[in-house]
Order: sequence, then C-alpha cells, then structure tokens
Amino acid sequence: DFVLYYFLYPIDRYRLRPYLSKPATAKLAGLGQGMIEVQSISKHYQHGGKTVAALDNVSLQIASGEIYGIIGRSGAGKSTLIRCLNLLERPDTGHVSLHGEDITRLDERALQQRRQRIGMVFQHFNLLRSRTVAANVRFPLELAGGLSPAQMDARVDELLALVGLQDHKHKRPSQLSGGQKQRVGIARALANHPDLLLCDEATSALDPETTDAILALLADINRQLGLTIVLITHDMRVIRQLCDSVAVLDHGRVVEQGKVLDVFLAPQHAVTQSLLAETGMGQGALQGIWRQRVATPVIKLTFVGEPTLQPVLDKVGREVGLRVNLLSGTLSEIKDTPFGQLLAGVVASDVDVSALPAIFAREGVRCEVL
Ligand code: ADP
Repeated sequence: DFVLYYFLYPIDRYRLRPYLSKPATAKLAGLGQGMIEVQSISKHYQHGGKTVAALDNVSLQIASGEIYGIIGRSGAGKSTLIRCLNLLERPDTGHVSLHGEDITRLDERALQQRRQRIGMVFQHFNLLRSRTVAANVRFPLELAGGLSPAQMDARVDELLALVGLQDHKHKRPSQLSGGQKQRVGIARALANHPDLLLCDEATSALDPETTDAILALLADINRQLGLTIVLITHDMRVIRQLCDSVAVLDHGRVVEQGKVLDVFLAPQHAVTQSLLAETGMGQGALQGIWRQRVATPVIKLTFVGEPTLQPVLDKVGREVGLRVNLLSGTLSEIKDTPFGQLLAGVVASDVDVSALPAIFAREGVRCEVL
C-alpha cells in the first residue's frame, strides 16, 4: 500500500520549510477553519452479484488542527471513508473538499499535487524490510526529489528525533518492536511536511502499553506541528485518549458525530452506547438493574473539568441533607479533561428532588432526575 501510494502519487519538489520549529500557535490559528469537508458521499461495491453500500450519504466537517476519529465495527465503512479523503477510493457521488477546494473535481495531475500534503500511517506499518530505519524515512524524500543528500540526511535526523528513534537509525525493521516500527511509519508519513495525517488503525496491531505511547506521540505531533489528524479505529479508548471530535459509522452511515466529550457523556445512538459499554464507560446494563431494583428516585450527576476534582456531592449533601446510595460511577479523562458520571439513589433530602438540578448546577455539575 505504502509503495503504491507514493509511486502512484509523485510528490512535488520539496520546499524546505522549518516544519519542526512551527509555532504551537499554528494549531490555534487554524482551528475553526474548515479543513476537510465531506459532502454526501456514497460508495457502492459489487460483491457476489450483490451491491454493497460501503458508504451511504456520509457528510463530515473536520476543522484544521483537530484530531478527528472515525469509529465503527468491522465492515462499517471506515477504510472506505478514510481512503475517500485522499481519493484513493473515488466516491460514486458527493464531494470532498480540502481547504475549500473540491478535490473530486480536480484532474489527476492537480489531484497528485493535493495528495502531497497528505501523510498516511498504516496498521501493519508497511516498512521496506531491506532498508534501514533511516532509509525508510528517507524514501519519500528521495521520491520527492529536490533535496541534496546532506539535506535529506538532516531531515531524516530531524524526523527520527521527533519520534524518538535517533539511536535506531541503522537498524532494520526486523530488529524493531511493533511500537518502534510504527514510529518509523509516522516519521516517514511526516517526511514531506503534510498538513493532514491519515491514520488507518495505527495502533490496532500494538499492545495496550505501546498503544498509549503511540497515541501520546500522535497527540504531541498534533500539538507541535498543528497538523490535522484523521484516524479510523474500532477502539473507543483511542477516541477517548486522542480525539477532539468523533464520527460513529454504522452500515456505511454516520449515526452520531460531535465533540468527543459530548458524545461520551451523552451517547445517543445504540451503536455508540454499545461501543462505550465495551470500554466500561457505558451505563446501559447498570441502568437496567437499578430500574428493576431501586425504589428511590435516581439522579445522574455529570462532572466535567474542575468540579470532577472537588467534593461536590459531599458539599451539596451537607447543604441540603442529601444522602445517596451510589449505584454506579465512572471517573476518567477524555483527552486532557477529567470527567465523572455517577448514578445515585436519593435516600434522603431536605429539598424536593426536583430542586436538585439547580442546586448542583451552582457547583458546575449537571444533575438529571431519572
Ligand atoms: P471497515 O473498514 O469499517 O471494516 P470497509 O470500508 O472495509 O469497512 O468495508 C465496508 C463494506 O464494503 C464491507 O461490507 C466490505 O465488505 C465492503 N467492501 C469494502 N471494500 C470492498 C471491495 N473492494 N470490494 C467489495 N466490497 C468491498
């Protein structure tokens, strides 16, 4: 895939740009501007005499500088969608715009120019086995042309430092761990200064600890370089740790999308709820139990940010004589934001239960009476 990708889409002459010293404000400056706009794309495949709708009227808006996750189960259409973002797959209908330009209308040559600004990271790394780490990272620079050998060496060193592999530059891929191989894949994807990085299940072949390290690296790259990242995954933990926004794909359709915090704290669609339940963050099953067994009124408290770290329940409890029976609870982080959700049966309260939402709102906590 990788070799095909680079040979099919020749890279323009390299323009030396001090990419690594790009100010961190680049991300802030770019945020809010439409970077990628996917408008009503559909893609059908013929399989065994039948037509399969891999994508069915999908629309997305991805802002510059954000990390956007696309999640869904196997067969949901994730790979097809990410490949439509650089038109490795052409949608049957609909449009894909980058920086306001509709790339579905470009001729092949102009499209190749656009693709030069898109890096790609693969699940199985797709490294060239016969080449050293440094030579793998150097490969796209060689294809692009325009750099002297010394300039290429300098760029390779810069990239290897970025991904923490300076000491491994002369090794072959077979001498590296999975996480190190993916670091090479990331360095290679960044070689020609893309402004968009597509990650195709980049951590699915890695163990949990290595996954965390690679996600931290991607977050760091996003912060340092102001690079927009779009990733596909089947793992909600990846979305929770890394992404700003998420789209949930099911049977080729976007069934839910929004800011990760909003989607995690109030998932609307059954597919989102079940994907969350698998990470231990859904409350569906517990809600089923308390509905049958708990006779008291039940409140759901949602803490986001600072109130998560404060003894709000204790404080309100003292103020209004609220005593609760905790039924379930989550305390975790979404990207860098701490959050918590508690389900509690109200055992006693000096005020009417219907007054509790306003009282908790004063403490910055959402309270719903279920
Ligand atoms: P995901 O990445 O979420 O697993 P895919 O985008 O690979 O989903 O596939 C979506 C649907 O399209 C599946 O039903 C799959 O079988 C079908 N599909 C994908 N690529 C092809 C292809 N080249 N030919 C036929 N069917 C395909």
